[in-house]
Amino acid sequence: MPLVVVGSVALDSVETPTETRENLLGGSAVFFSYAASYFTPTWLVSVVGDDWPPEHTELLDARGIDTSGLKKVPGKTFSWRGRYYDDMNHRETLEVNLNVFEDFDPTLAEAHCRCKYLFLANGPPAVQLRVLDQCPGAQLAVADTMDLWIKSSRDEMTELLRRIDGLVLNDSEAKLLTGEENLVRAGHATCALGPRFVVIKKGEHGAMFFSRHETYVLPAYPTPNVLDPTGAGDSFGGGMMGYLAEQGNFEPKTLKKALAYGMLTASFTVEGFSLDGLKKVRREDIEQRMDEYRKMLAF
Ligand code: AMP
Repeated sequence: MPLVVVGSVALDSVETPTETRENLLGGSAVFFSYAASYFTPTWLVSVVGDDWPPEHTELLDARGIDTSGLKKVPGKTFSWRGRYYDDMNHRETLEVNLNVFEDFDPTLAEAHCRCKYLFLANGPPAVQLRVLDQCPGAQLAVADTMDLWIKSSRDEMTELLRRIDGLVLNDSEAKLLTGEENLVRAGHATCALGPRFVVIKKGEHGAMFFSRHETYVLPAYPTPNVLDPTGAGDSFGGGMMGYLAEQGNFEPKTLKKALAYGMLTASFTVEGFSLDGLKKVRREDIEQRMDEYRKMLAF
């Protein structure tokens, strides 16, 4: 089943302890759609400026991602700069230039509005709400968010939480959102704000799932080759939603497998800068990791 993602498309600059790379293809919707495309037809909706290199769109097209919703407008593309510290788990955002993303007010094409699976990738909650308004038939609407929006758009965030089915966010964001230091409490407190399920991402330590009926933790796939963690969270979301859309249901059993697929997809992303790690991958490679992951978890 097709999956629509609305979020940022960016030029990222990334500093790791050993290397700095400038103007890389990035953005929440880019990592998400690339990851999801291994599982299901994926439609990307976003905006770029006139500095956008066409080869980036060609890379997405080559994976079969529908980029007809990627609009080019006058101005500069959203850009982000981040720095990772020694253990690659701690990241600092050095710069965020919203640029054309600041006025992003997407009008979805008719086909996109009829989607059943919708992902509101990281972006302003007001925009995420306007997209939700345009997709009244979505059976599964899941959002991601980050500290910037939790701090700057509390009211819109509260409304968004009441209207979505699922929320994906990282551990520090869950604490910020709920004021709870304990992650289990933070997960349940987030569910109490509205979503039917909440996934808290914990970087190399995996992810926690919360719903009214279930709480569990899944580990990350233990890769020793972490070059650049940027986009891991978005790739997790892409793998998870892609699998759900492929299966056409979001029963508890399917959701648990979807979290595992999200984890495995993200493990490829961190093995290279930008999409370098993920773009070498075939679906068979993901399945091979799934076999290893299953064996790892059986006891
Ligand atoms: P992740 O590593 O999964 O948290 O995602 C990093 C990606 O999110 C980068 O490619 C950034 O371009 C993008 N990003 C960073 N800050 C924001 C923001 N405030 N809104 C939307 N996207 C962002």
